[in-house]
Amino acid sequence: MRPLDIGLVVVLLFLAAAISSASTKTGRSYYTQERLAFMHQNLEKYEWARNTKSAILSAADRWLEYPDDELRIMVPPPELARAIYVHETGCPEHGLAIRKFGTYAWKLSLEHPFKVQCPVGGEFYPDNDFEAYYRSGIVDGRFDADTADKSLLQGNIVDDGWATVTRRSSGSSGTTCTGCWPARWCPAS
Ligand SMILES: [Zn+2]
Repeated sequence: MRPLDIGLVVVLLFLAAAISSASTKTGRSYYTQERLAFMHQNLEKYEWARNTKSAILSAADRWLEYPDDELRIMVPPPELARAIYVHETGCPEHGLAIRKFGTYAWKLSLEHPFKVQCPVGGEFYPDNDFEAYYRSGIVDGRFDADTADKSLLQGNIVDDGWATVTRRSSGSSGTTCTGCWPARWCPAS
């Protein structure tokens, strides 16, 4: 057997072991019974633990208000490659000034789902109503780009789910990833 073939066999064996291990899970693995018991003890003993529990439940209450269908579309399908990475060309308006806020500098909030906000100037991207476009393409719970209403892709900086494309004042074109699927999950900083 050639070395390449041996390597392939080894990889397949590891994959088989991993799949087998995952499929044989029979109980809790993170919040074990012991860990849960420890939490209950802390709740009985400590005020901080009770306050933490109240804060978690209070934050969770918001999600109970969403219908199941709404929760489902909050997780975009693989057909929409959402991301919040700031492209090498930076913000369409402020360029690389956004970099001083980090690589993932766009601000996210539940008040503006499917939008991102520049931390430098406070403007929002993209111009188009991406959420309306996304909803227009949902068929049987899945997004179909062929069905989506292309008339909703209007504006200077438009996002069809695969990032925005804009032309900077310098004349060079740049692509700025402003996908914002985590906006529903990560409160604005
Ligand atoms: Zn900006």
